[in-house]
Amino acid sequence: MPFCGRTAVLLLLALAGQSAWAQAPLIPPAAPLSAPATPPPVLPDGRGLLPPASVSPPLPAPVPAPGLPDLPLAAPPAPPLAPAPTRLRARLPLPAHRLVLPAVSRVAERQVLYGRSAQGRALTMFVLDNGAPDTANVTLIFGGFHGNERSTPGVIERLRRFLKQTPAAWPRRRVLLVPYANPDGWALGTRTNGRDVDINRNFPAGWREAARAARYSPGPHAASEPETQAIIALLARYHPAKIVSLHSPLHCLNWTGDLGRAMAYAMTADNHLPVKGDIGYPTPGSLGDYCGAHGIGIVTLEFAGENADDAWQENRAAFVAVINLRPFAEPREVSKE
Ligand SMILES: [Zn+2]
Repeated sequence: MPFCGRTAVLLLLALAGQSAWAQAPLIPPAAPLSAPATPPPVLPDGRGLLPPASVSPPLPAPVPAPGLPDLPLAAPPAPPLAPAPTRLRARLPLPAHRLVLPAVSRVAERQVLYGRSAQGRALTMFVLDNGAPDTANVTLIFGGFHGNERSTPGVIERLRRFLKQTPAAWPRRRVLLVPYANPDGWALGTRTNGRDVDINRNFPAGWREAARAARYSPGPHAASEPETQAIIALLARYHPAKIVSLHSPLHCLNWTGDLGRAMAYAMTADNHLPVKGDIGYPTPGSLGDYCGAHGIGIVTLEFAGENADDAWQENRAAFVAVINLRPFAEPREVSKE
Protein backbone atom coordinates (compact mmCIF):
# COMPACT_ATOMS: atom_id res chain seq x y z
CA MET A 1 0.00 0.00 0.00
CA PRO A 2 1.50 3.06 -1.01
CA PHE A 3 1.64 5.72 1.75
CA CYS A 4 1.72 8.59 -0.45
CA GLY A 5 1.92 12.26 0.39
CA ARG A 6 -1.75 12.88 -0.47
CA THR A 7 -2.92 10.51 2.21
CA ALA A 8 -0.73 12.09 4.82
CA VAL A 9 -2.17 15.48 4.01
CA LEU A 10 -5.72 14.18 4.36
CA LEU A 11 -4.89 12.60 7.70
CA LEU A 12 -3.39 15.79 9.00
CA LEU A 13 -6.41 17.77 7.86
CA ALA A 14 -8.71 15.35 9.60
CA LEU A 15 -6.78 15.55 12.86
CA ALA A 16 -6.70 19.34 12.67
CA GLY A 17 -10.45 19.45 12.01
CA GLN A 18 -11.15 17.22 14.99
CA SER A 19 -9.15 19.48 17.25
CA ALA A 20 -10.93 22.62 15.98
CA TRP A 21 -14.30 21.03 16.66
CA ALA A 22 -13.36 20.07 20.16
CA GLN A 23 -12.34 23.67 21.05
CA ALA A 24 -15.60 25.37 19.84
CA PRO A 25 -17.90 26.31 22.79
CA LEU A 26 -21.27 24.59 22.92
CA ILE A 27 -23.15 27.71 24.31
CA PRO A 28 -22.28 31.19 23.13
CA PRO A 29 -21.01 33.39 25.94
CA ALA A 30 -23.48 35.78 27.51
CA ALA A 31 -23.27 39.37 26.54
CA PRO A 32 -21.41 41.53 29.05
CA LEU A 33 -23.80 42.92 31.77
CA SER A 34 -22.68 46.48 31.39
CA ALA A 35 -23.68 46.64 27.77
CA PRO A 36 -27.23 47.87 27.05
CA ALA A 37 -29.54 45.25 25.68
CA THR A 38 -30.60 47.68 22.98
CA PRO A 39 -28.79 50.79 22.01
CA PRO A 40 -30.56 54.07 22.97
CA PRO A 41 -32.68 55.35 20.13
CA VAL A 42 -31.34 58.16 18.12
CA LEU A 43 -33.45 61.06 16.99
CA PRO A 44 -33.48 61.83 13.27
CA ASP A 45 -31.23 64.84 13.81
CA GLY A 46 -28.62 62.62 15.37
CA ARG A 47 -29.19 63.60 19.01
CA GLY A 48 -29.40 60.66 21.29
CA LEU A 49 -31.95 60.32 24.04
CA LEU A 50 -30.82 59.91 27.59
CA PRO A 51 -29.69 56.41 28.29
CA PRO A 52 -32.11 54.39 30.39
CA ALA A 53 -29.62 54.19 33.24
CA SER A 54 -30.04 57.92 33.94
CA VAL A 55 -33.87 57.65 34.54
CA SER A 56 -34.76 57.29 38.20
CA PRO A 57 -36.86 54.27 38.91
CA PRO A 58 -40.50 55.20 39.76
CA LEU A 59 -41.14 55.72 43.47
CA PRO A 60 -43.62 53.41 45.08
CA ALA A 61 -47.04 54.98 45.62
CA PRO A 62 -47.32 56.49 49.11
CA VAL A 63 -49.23 54.28 51.42
CA PRO A 64 -50.96 56.03 54.31
CA ALA A 65 -50.26 54.68 57.71
CA PRO A 66 -53.06 52.57 59.09
CA GLY A 67 -55.51 54.62 61.05
CA LEU A 68 -54.57 57.92 59.45
CA PRO A 69 -56.71 59.72 56.92
CA ASP A 70 -55.84 59.29 53.30
CA LEU A 71 -54.03 62.56 52.85
CA PRO A 72 -51.74 63.33 49.94
CA LEU A 73 -48.58 62.51 51.86
CA ALA A 74 -46.24 63.35 49.04
CA ALA A 75 -47.61 66.90 48.50
CA PRO A 76 -45.56 69.45 50.39
CA PRO A 77 -47.51 72.17 52.24
CA ALA A 78 -48.31 75.13 50.04
CA PRO A 79 -46.20 78.16 50.81
CA PRO A 80 -48.16 81.10 52.28
CA LEU A 81 -49.48 83.47 49.65
CA ALA A 82 -47.96 86.87 49.49
CA PRO A 83 -50.40 89.60 50.55
CA ALA A 84 -52.35 91.06 47.68
CA PRO A 85 -51.63 94.63 46.68
CA THR A 86 -53.68 97.13 48.60
CA ARG A 87 -55.88 98.13 45.68
CA LEU A 88 -56.69 94.52 44.88
CA ARG A 89 -57.18 93.59 48.51
CA ALA A 90 -59.86 96.23 48.86
CA ARG A 91 -62.00 94.42 46.32
CA LEU A 92 -61.65 90.99 47.88
CA PRO A 93 -64.35 89.76 50.27
CA LEU A 94 -63.54 90.49 53.88
CA PRO A 95 -62.72 87.65 56.24
CA ALA A 96 -65.74 86.21 58.00
CA HIS A 97 -64.96 87.83 61.34
CA ARG A 98 -64.93 91.26 59.72
CA LEU A 99 -68.35 90.74 58.11
CA VAL A 100 -70.05 91.09 61.51
CA LEU A 101 -71.27 94.63 61.09
CA PRO A 102 -72.66 96.75 63.88
CA ALA A 103 -76.27 95.95 64.64
CA VAL A 104 -77.33 99.50 63.81
CA SER A 105 -76.70 99.03 60.11
CA ARG A 106 -79.61 96.70 59.43
CA VAL A 107 -83.33 97.40 59.74
CA ALA A 108 -85.60 94.44 59.08
CA GLU A 109 -89.24 95.22 58.41
CA ARG A 110 -92.21 92.93 58.17
CA GLN A 111 -95.92 93.57 57.92
CA VAL A 112 -98.25 91.68 60.23
CA LEU A 113 -102.00 91.16 59.78
CA TYR A 114 -103.24 91.23 63.35
CA GLY A 115 -106.99 91.14 62.76
CA ARG A 116 -110.02 92.38 60.81
CA SER A 117 -112.21 95.40 61.43
CA ALA A 118 -115.97 95.25 62.01
CA GLN A 119 -116.45 95.82 58.27
CA GLY A 120 -113.77 93.30 57.33
CA ARG A 121 -110.85 95.63 56.64
CA ALA A 122 -107.32 94.41 57.36
CA LEU A 123 -105.74 95.48 60.63
CA THR A 124 -102.06 95.69 59.80
CA MET A 125 -98.89 96.53 61.68
CA PHE A 126 -95.28 97.08 60.64
CA VAL A 127 -92.58 95.47 62.78
CA LEU A 128 -89.20 97.20 62.44
CA ASP A 129 -86.19 95.52 64.02
CA ASN A 130 -82.92 97.43 64.15
CA GLY A 131 -80.23 94.77 64.32
CA ALA A 132 -80.83 92.33 67.17
CA PRO A 133 -83.44 94.29 69.11
CA ASP A 134 -83.82 94.48 72.85
CA THR A 135 -87.25 92.83 73.07
CA ALA A 136 -87.70 94.14 76.61
CA ASN A 137 -87.83 97.66 75.19
CA VAL A 138 -90.41 97.54 72.42
CA THR A 139 -92.24 100.73 71.41
CA LEU A 140 -95.69 100.57 69.78
CA ILE A 141 -97.12 103.63 68.04
CA PHE A 142 -100.78 103.81 67.02
CA GLY A 143 -102.26 106.06 64.38
CA GLY A 144 -105.82 106.29 63.10
CA PHE A 145 -107.65 105.49 66.33
CA HIS A 146 -110.18 108.13 65.41
CA GLY A 147 -110.97 108.27 61.71
CA ASN A 148 -111.79 111.98 61.71
CA GLU A 149 -108.28 112.92 62.94
CA ARG A 150 -106.66 112.90 59.54
CA SER A 151 -102.97 113.57 60.19
CA THR A 152 -102.01 110.55 62.28
CA PRO A 153 -101.59 107.84 59.57
CA GLY A 154 -99.42 110.22 57.54
CA VAL A 155 -97.15 110.81 60.54
CA ILE A 156 -96.84 107.04 61.05
CA GLU A 157 -95.76 106.70 57.40
CA ARG A 158 -93.17 109.47 57.76
CA LEU A 159 -91.84 107.89 60.93
CA ARG A 160 -91.62 104.50 59.24
CA ARG A 161 -89.59 105.96 56.37
CA PHE A 162 -87.32 107.86 58.76
CA LEU A 163 -86.60 104.79 60.91
CA LYS A 164 -85.66 102.72 57.86
CA GLN A 165 -83.37 105.42 56.53
CA THR A 166 -81.78 106.38 59.86
CA PRO A 167 -80.92 103.21 61.78
CA ALA A 168 -78.12 104.92 63.71
CA ALA A 169 -80.74 107.01 65.53
CA TRP A 170 -82.34 104.02 67.30
CA PRO A 171 -79.89 101.15 67.70
CA ARG A 172 -81.08 97.75 68.94
CA ARG A 173 -84.73 98.72 69.20
CA ARG A 174 -87.96 97.15 67.93
CA VAL A 175 -90.71 99.54 66.85
CA LEU A 176 -94.27 98.47 66.03
CA LEU A 177 -96.26 100.85 63.82
CA VAL A 178 -100.04 100.65 63.37
CA PRO A 179 -101.12 103.30 60.84
CA TYR A 180 -104.86 102.62 61.06
CA ALA A 181 -106.16 101.22 64.34
CA ASN A 182 -109.69 101.99 63.09
CA PRO A 183 -109.69 101.59 59.30
CA ASP A 184 -113.48 101.66 59.06
CA GLY A 185 -113.54 105.06 60.75
CA TRP A 186 -110.81 106.27 58.38
CA ALA A 187 -112.83 105.12 55.36
CA LEU A 188 -115.99 106.73 56.75
CA GLY A 189 -114.29 109.84 58.12
CA THR A 190 -115.78 109.21 61.56
CA ARG A 191 -114.42 109.07 65.09
CA THR A 192 -116.12 105.69 65.64
CA ASN A 193 -115.74 102.36 63.87
CA GLY A 194 -118.09 100.78 61.33
CA ARG A 195 -120.59 99.94 64.10
CA ASP A 196 -120.53 103.44 65.58
CA VAL A 197 -118.42 102.41 68.56
CA ASP A 198 -115.49 104.51 69.82
CA ILE A 199 -112.63 102.00 70.05
CA ASN A 200 -110.91 104.27 72.55
CA ARG A 201 -113.85 103.74 74.96
CA ASN A 202 -114.32 100.03 74.37
CA PHE A 203 -111.40 98.56 76.37
CA PRO A 204 -112.08 96.55 79.54
CA ALA A 205 -110.75 99.26 81.87
CA GLY A 206 -113.39 101.21 83.82
CA TRP A 207 -115.88 100.32 81.12
CA ARG A 208 -118.87 99.97 83.49
CA GLU A 209 -118.89 103.66 84.13
CA ALA A 210 -118.53 104.39 80.46
CA ALA A 211 -121.50 102.16 79.63
CA ARG A 212 -123.72 104.46 81.64
CA ALA A 213 -122.73 107.46 79.57
CA ALA A 214 -123.99 106.84 76.07
CA ARG A 215 -122.14 109.83 74.63
CA TYR A 216 -118.90 107.85 74.83
CA SER A 217 -120.21 105.32 72.28
CA PRO A 218 -118.51 102.55 74.29
CA GLY A 219 -120.28 99.64 72.59
CA PRO A 220 -122.63 97.01 74.01
CA HIS A 221 -119.98 95.61 76.35
CA ALA A 222 -116.28 95.81 77.08
CA ALA A 223 -114.10 94.66 74.17
CA SER A 224 -117.18 94.09 72.03
CA GLU A 225 -115.41 95.33 68.89
CA PRO A 226 -113.05 93.29 66.75
CA GLU A 227 -110.60 96.21 66.60
CA THR A 228 -110.42 96.27 70.41
CA GLN A 229 -110.03 92.51 70.66
CA ALA A 230 -107.26 92.55 68.05
CA ILE A 231 -105.32 95.22 69.96
CA ILE A 232 -105.62 93.31 73.24
CA ALA A 233 -104.24 90.19 71.52
CA LEU A 234 -101.49 92.29 69.93
CA LEU A 235 -100.32 93.62 73.30
CA ALA A 236 -100.31 90.12 74.79
CA ARG A 237 -98.26 88.79 71.91
CA TYR A 238 -95.66 91.54 71.37
CA HIS A 239 -95.30 92.86 74.94
CA PRO A 240 -94.59 96.51 74.15
CA ALA A 241 -93.10 98.33 77.12
CA LYS A 242 -94.08 101.74 75.74
CA ILE A 243 -97.04 102.92 73.66
CA VAL A 244 -97.59 106.24 71.95
CA SER A 245 -101.14 106.82 70.66
CA LEU A 246 -101.57 109.64 68.15
CA HIS A 247 -104.56 111.96 68.23
CA SER A 248 -105.49 115.58 67.56
CA PRO A 249 -106.07 118.48 68.09
CA LEU A 250 -105.42 119.11 71.81
CA HIS A 251 -101.65 119.71 71.32
CA CYS A 252 -100.33 118.12 74.49
CA LEU A 253 -98.77 115.00 75.97
CA ASN A 254 -101.11 113.02 78.21
CA TRP A 255 -99.47 110.21 80.16
CA THR A 256 -100.68 107.24 82.19
CA GLY A 257 -98.50 105.37 84.72
CA ASP A 258 -94.98 106.05 85.97
CA LEU A 259 -93.32 104.93 82.78
CA GLY A 260 -95.84 106.95 80.78
CA ARG A 261 -94.82 110.02 82.75
CA ALA A 262 -91.13 109.34 82.00
CA MET A 263 -92.02 108.99 78.33
CA ALA A 264 -93.91 112.28 78.29
CA TYR A 265 -90.99 114.14 79.85
CA ALA A 266 -88.52 112.55 77.43
CA MET A 267 -90.70 113.73 74.55
CA THR A 268 -91.42 117.23 75.77
CA ALA A 269 -87.68 117.91 75.98
CA ASP A 270 -87.80 117.84 72.17
CA ASN A 271 -91.31 118.90 71.15
CA HIS A 272 -91.97 121.29 74.09
CA LEU A 273 -95.62 120.26 74.37
CA PRO A 274 -97.37 120.65 77.71
CA VAL A 275 -97.33 117.49 79.82
CA LYS A 276 -100.61 116.46 81.41
CA GLY A 277 -101.33 113.58 83.73
CA ASP A 278 -105.03 114.31 83.40
CA ILE A 279 -106.62 115.29 80.11
CA GLY A 280 -109.38 117.16 81.95
CA TYR A 281 -112.26 114.74 81.45
CA PRO A 282 -112.83 111.05 82.22
CA THR A 283 -111.77 108.51 79.60
CA PRO A 284 -113.26 105.20 80.81
CA GLY A 285 -112.57 102.25 78.58
CA SER A 286 -109.68 104.06 76.90
CA LEU A 287 -106.49 102.46 75.67
CA GLY A 288 -104.66 104.66 78.18
CA ASP A 289 -106.59 103.26 81.12
CA TYR A 290 -106.18 99.71 79.84
CA CYS A 291 -102.40 100.09 79.49
CA GLY A 292 -102.18 101.80 82.90
CA ALA A 293 -103.91 98.81 84.45
CA HIS A 294 -101.47 96.41 82.76
CA GLY A 295 -98.21 98.19 83.56
CA ILE A 296 -97.55 99.45 80.03
CA GLY A 297 -96.21 102.99 79.76
CA ILE A 298 -98.43 105.07 77.47
CA VAL A 299 -98.53 108.61 76.19
CA THR A 300 -101.36 110.09 74.15
CA LEU A 301 -99.69 112.55 71.81
CA GLU A 302 -102.18 115.13 70.62
CA PHE A 303 -101.17 117.04 67.49
CA ALA A 304 -102.25 120.64 67.03
CA GLY A 305 -104.06 120.07 63.74
CA GLU A 306 -104.51 117.89 60.69
CA ASN A 307 -101.33 118.69 58.76
CA ALA A 308 -99.14 115.57 58.81
CA ASP A 309 -96.00 117.42 57.67
CA ASP A 310 -96.26 119.96 60.48
CA ALA A 311 -96.94 117.27 63.06
CA TRP A 312 -94.02 115.20 61.82
CA GLN A 313 -91.57 118.08 61.90
CA GLU A 314 -92.67 119.05 65.38
CA ASN A 315 -92.39 115.54 66.81
CA ARG A 316 -89.64 113.73 64.92
CA ALA A 317 -87.02 114.14 67.63
CA ALA A 318 -89.56 113.29 70.33
CA PHE A 319 -90.29 109.98 68.61
CA VAL A 320 -86.58 109.14 68.56
CA ALA A 321 -86.29 110.07 72.25
CA VAL A 322 -89.18 107.88 73.36
CA ILE A 323 -88.06 104.92 71.22
CA ASN A 324 -84.60 105.05 72.80
CA LEU A 325 -85.89 105.63 76.34
CA ARG A 326 -85.22 102.67 78.58
CA PRO A 327 -88.20 101.41 80.54
CA PHE A 328 -88.21 102.41 84.20
CA ALA A 329 -85.61 105.12 83.60
CA GLU A 330 -86.02 108.19 85.75
CA PRO A 331 -87.91 111.04 84.11
CA ARG A 332 -85.78 113.84 82.81
CA GLU A 333 -85.71 117.13 84.61
CA VAL A 334 -87.89 119.66 82.86
CA SER A 335 -86.67 123.21 82.54
CA LYS A 336 -88.70 125.52 84.80
CA GLU A 337 -89.95 128.57 83.04
ZN1 LIG B 1 -108.60 111.10 69.04
